[in-house]
Amino acid sequence: MSRKLILILGDQLSEDISSLSDFDKDHDVVLICEVWDEATYVPHHKKKIAFIFSAMRHFAERLKEKGFHVSYVKLEDADNSGSFTGEVQRAIQNYHPDKIVVTFPGEYRVLQDIKKWHDIFNLPVDIREDSRFLCTPDEFRAWAENKKSLRMEFFYREMRRKYNVLLNDEKPVGGQWNYDSENRKFPSAETLFIPKPYMVQPDHITNEVIELVESRFPGYFGDIQPFYFAVTREDALHVLDKFIVERLNKFGDYQDAMVQGQPWMYHSHISFYLNCGLLNPLEVVQRAEKAYIEGKAPLNAVEGFIRQIIGWREYVRGVYWLNMPEYSDHNFLDARRKLPALYWGAPTKMNCLKQCVKETKENAYAHHIQRLMVLGNFALIAGIDPKEVNEWFLIVYADAYEWVELPNVTGMILFADGGYLGSKPYASTGAYINKMSDYCDGCSYSVTTKTGDKACPFNYLYWDFMMRNEGKLKGNPRLGFTYKNLSAMPDIQKETIRSDANKFLDCIDD
Ligand SMILES: Cc1cc2nc3c(=O)[nH]c(=O)nc-3n(C[C@H](O)[C@H](O)[C@H](O)COP(=O)(O)OP(=O)(O)OC[C@H]3O[C@@H](n4cnc5c(N)ncnc54)[C@H](O)[C@@H]3O)c2cc1C
Ligand code: SF4
Repeated sequence: MSRKLILILGDQLSEDISSLSDFDKDHDVVLICEVWDEATYVPHHKKKIAFIFSAMRHFAERLKEKGFHVSYVKLEDADNSGSFTGEVQRAIQNYHPDKIVVTFPGEYRVLQDIKKWHDIFNLPVDIREDSRFLCTPDEFRAWAENKKSLRMEFFYREMRRKYNVLLNDEKPVGGQWNYDSENRKFPSAETLFIPKPYMVQPDHITNEVIELVESRFPGYFGDIQPFYFAVTREDALHVLDKFIVERLNKFGDYQDAMVQGQPWMYHSHISFYLNCGLLNPLEVVQRAEKAYIEGKAPLNAVEGFIRQIIGWREYVRGVYWLNMPEYSDHNFLDARRKLPALYWGAPTKMNCLKQCVKETKENAYAHHIQRLMVLGNFALIAGIDPKEVNEWFLIVYADAYEWVELPNVTGMILFADGGYLGSKPYASTGAYINKMSDYCDGCSYSVTTKTGDKACPFNYLYWDFMMRNEGKLKGNPRLGFTYKNLSAMPDIQKETIRSDANKFLDCIDD
């Protein structure tokens, strides 16, 4: 009887993963390994490393309880070679398999390594489709074929049809595909009473991992304590259920709202669990749809939430695999500035950035609008190099893997792909941040002042960005109004904006 060596990666912690589908308990061996190369290829947030290692250790225990033969390699094991290739080699020496099986990895970099194993080990390598995603890279390629630019909204409708989600006789429930226009409520008194998310008490396995991370990664960014992430499927399901029962009903209304001291808002905080495999996207979508059918959450909230998962999440993955490796080199706007130290917590008078970085450091989490309209918007209009911005976003969030981080950063926030993923840059003045948050109330700058020392830097950086990139952006139909306003602006005002922007940017460079 032949023996398979099945490698399970840190973001493949699902019992129904394709690599385990034909597991033979009498012969096969599962290999799960904590390797130095993966933990350090960028210096990840400490909470992110602890979360993934702890979830891996719990998953291995679960498989062992179910009778799987698991070979688990801890980071501190004396013989740990530090790389996937080295650990597969050691496992081959120990177990003499006839074949290596692995589910398609989340990152292009890892796929390149796996593709070499056939030649290195002279063994067949079976790389299986990752069936946890709802659209395969080939299906996405077929959808994208012959399209000059891709639009998520049309992809999303296809996915609704494919999985029969929120449909009545093939028509969207309620008559519209998208209820975003109802989802822009300002923070109000209600946001003071947001139900608390489910926080898990660390057990002995998690505490052991926390100690390991504190001793082996001392200089890495981020607070490891308090640690409250779910690290088992049961707890991740609990996080999901609590969201569906207590916060989904307001998810739509306050999706874009930012409130100082409220990092979690009405969001679900399940990206960590979806991305490492503790939750499955289809089960999440079905539970949300059920809440709507049972009258427990309104359509604008449920449709908005489901769109993020079967729409955006699958769409960015499709864009990633369709365009790698070239996608990681895009820099359409030729942005060259280094990432300012404020992204690592250096003092800044800009309250919005200060709050978002502080929460990122504490939680390895910031919600979508903080990432997009504060941290991302600033990186875009300040002209920060896409490589530096990508690396930061990959480091600091516990849900960050390149397949999801790169398209969001290069495509969505930086317009570095020239408009392939999004139709226009998400640039804005301080007015948007003021409208959707209470950050400006506690800021040293004045959001209504356009130029001068007291002016909100987003105000003049926005116009400076539009002027700097006029040659590349003026023809964009969605920026017609902006460039009309710019052409009506007196030269003296433009000069003042340029001078304020340069002065400010020189200062943050220092
Ligand atoms: C610059 C930038 C970087 C990002 N980097 C990541 C990342 O590394 N990993 C990651 O999972 N998400 C990333 N996102 C998307 C999004 O911000 C997070 O998925 C979300 O904030 C996670 O919090 P949540 O689970 O509370 O999400 P909710 O707001 O409750 O949304 C529900 C789910 O929808 C999915 N989702 C929503 N928006 C997106 C999106 N744009 N792309 C992919 N999935 C989406 C997530 O799985 C999320 O859990 C990024 C967005 C931006 C603008
Ligand atoms: S005034 Fe400007 S810098 Fe200050 S919090 Fe508001 S948007 Fe941010």
